[in-house]
Amino acid sequence: MSSKKNQTFATHITRRDFVNGAAVGIGSAFAPGIQPVHGKSNEGAAPHLLGKDWYGYGGVGPYRESHGNTPELVNTAHTLRNGQSIPAFELEAVEAYDLVIVGGGLAGLGAALEFNDQHGPERTCLLLDNHPVIGGEAKENEFAVEGERLIAPQGANGFFIPPATGDTGDAYYYAKLGLPRDFTFREWPAQQSPLRFCRDNYGYLVAGLQKHTSTGHFFRTPEHQEGTWVTDLFDAGTAHAPLSEVTQKRLHQWFAAGQLKDFGSAEKARRELDTMSYEDFLNQHLNASDEGARYADLFLASACGLGSDAVSAYAAFQLPMPGLFDSSLLDARRVSFPGGNSGFVRYFLKHLISDSIQGGDSFEEVITNPLNPSALDKPGQPVRMRTNSTVLSVSHDGHPADSKGVNLVYVRGGKYYGLRAKSVVMATGSWMTKKIVADLPETHVKACDEFLHAPFLVANVALTNWRFLHKLGITAAIWDRDDQGFGFTCNIRNPMQVGDYQPPLDPDKPTVLSFYTPFHRPGVDPKAQVSMGRAALFNTSYTEYESQILRQMLQLFGPAGFNPKRDVAGLILNRWGHAYSVPYPGFYGGASGSGPADTLRQNVGRISFAHSELAGLQHYGPAADEGRRAAQQASQWL
Ligand SMILES: Cc1cc2nc3c(=O)[nH]c(=O)nc-3n(C[C@H](O)[C@H](O)[C@H](O)COP(=O)(O)OP(=O)(O)OC[C@H]3O[C@@H](n4cnc5c(N)ncnc54)[C@H](O)[C@@H]3O)c2cc1C
Repeated sequence: MSSKKNQTFATHITRRDFVNGAAVGIGSAFAPGIQPVHGKSNEGAAPHLLGKDWYGYGGVGPYRESHGNTPELVNTAHTLRNGQSIPAFELEAVEAYDLVIVGGGLAGLGAALEFNDQHGPERTCLLLDNHPVIGGEAKENEFAVEGERLIAPQGANGFFIPPATGDTGDAYYYAKLGLPRDFTFREWPAQQSPLRFCRDNYGYLVAGLQKHTSTGHFFRTPEHQEGTWVTDLFDAGTAHAPLSEVTQKRLHQWFAAGQLKDFGSAEKARRELDTMSYEDFLNQHLNASDEGARYADLFLASACGLGSDAVSAYAAFQLPMPGLFDSSLLDARRVSFPGGNSGFVRYFLKHLISDSIQGGDSFEEVITNPLNPSALDKPGQPVRMRTNSTVLSVSHDGHPADSKGVNLVYVRGGKYYGLRAKSVVMATGSWMTKKIVADLPETHVKACDEFLHAPFLVANVALTNWRFLHKLGITAAIWDRDDQGFGFTCNIRNPMQVGDYQPPLDPDKPTVLSFYTPFHRPGVDPKAQVSMGRAALFNTSYTEYESQILRQMLQLFGPAGFNPKRDVAGLILNRWGHAYSVPYPGFYGGASGSGPADTLRQNVGRISFAHSELAGLQHYGPAADEGRRAAQQASQWL
């Protein structure tokens, strides 16, 4: 065993001080096993050990080993979840830091940025993440197809360009990190038949933005077994759709509902709307609920994991959804970096550790240059980042009220390491926090239990050409799925052009078709919906998903000439077991009280909590803001 003393106060630390606080005082060379600290959960049946055919193809470049949850991560997480103890181990090394951040998504990066801003090189900070690449759900896939480099988001993907200044959220980080405000996209040639393209993987689902995309709706009926396409459903399209007149009328009523009620203020809206689901709201205010609610599911489940039956009307108000906002006012278009919100992560990395991305700090270099993993964890730099490191145990040394520090154990490459920190920011989701933080009070355990996390699958399919979409006159597709089918929606983006990264926009050239796929089942108990979804996500092999996706593509696009052998160059699955925290009715505190996020924003001794889940609707700016607030709480212990 080696015991590093590289930081500020490591000298007296031994391995026996670690492990959930339970081991303090044990004088053996081995620490005992770790037990999950707050009971056993039975949510989401998943196999303990995932088969070889689970992870599948990862594309090219540094993200090929880190697409969605990795098998190692899922296995370790399920060991903790199932109540199995981690066997006795020997600690390899013990280091000390002023701040340890657990979780390398945008919340963790927001904490690191704030801590570094406040304290500079005088104070040390280590950020640990259990994936091979930093970024959490904001990472990218990369393909090389017929000489073209193609980059696509693994999850978080789009944004509106925020105001030029602001003290919080998107505007604050946008200005602070120096992100550009003008972007270049491909012009669709005037001589081609007109096509409209989404610039991210969401916009085409949003009522006020759908008009910017050539969106095809695919309907199958007993009379039309082979299916029918209707483009621009909400313009003149419904007349051509195989829908009853009543259904058409109700869909239009919902789509064009505008703002049905003026709440006066956001607080009044919260108090009223957070007592009901969006579906309830539509039932109360619009005699068009079922059709509208089912259509709205597509957007809600893609933005927060479950559909209208399970999501708070207040979340729908914030998004905003028809009936709660005049969607004709939405004229700003969302954009997406090549790798989606991986672009923001890259800016944070560059700002915190300038060598973490090769080259200089121009937009082109930050967004498209290779990552430099060896720069992340160099001794002596104020912020260090360590990947492939799963934290198993976090516990105060003594009672949280008067402890002298926090002890952590993490596993990396099968070996166990100890850390000692003056303070800790848990930038992980609450499903993980409650398993590994030993001395959480009952209030916080209860708050963690109140979150509901939904799974999500992003499948990126690299195509050699998209002639079949061109023939249909569409760039996005929405379909009525049968029991054997896959997904609900997919699209190709007009890809942002960045320096030498110039992906084509030509039906005979390569592109990426992205399937953003939720697991909602309207009408089923929300807890059962997420459990069933997670079981499906984890228990389906790569090969099975691949054949489901190709079958679905054949059903949709086969008649237009799609040929999987010729047209598909690669398929990457990004599986996110706890992708979204679902903002269910009451999440924001309902009529009067406070919600679980209010509790978790309070630190427990030297441990603070930050994750995008606290904001309800998960988004990069609020995620980083939670990290910022947690880092400010942590600073009191220096
Ligand atoms: C499909 C999808 C689409 C989205 N689209 C958008 C979008 O368009 N725009 C937008 O702004 N946001 C979007 N989001 C939301 C996005 O999740 C947030 O904006 C933000 O990126 C989340 O950051 P985070 O740090 O809170 O969480 P995460 O990204 O989840 O990061 C937490 C990290 O902590 C790690 N971790 C957990 N436990 C441990 C442990 N024990 N030890 C070490 N590490 C651990 C996790 O593995 C993860 O890497 C989307 C999310 C999904 C899933």
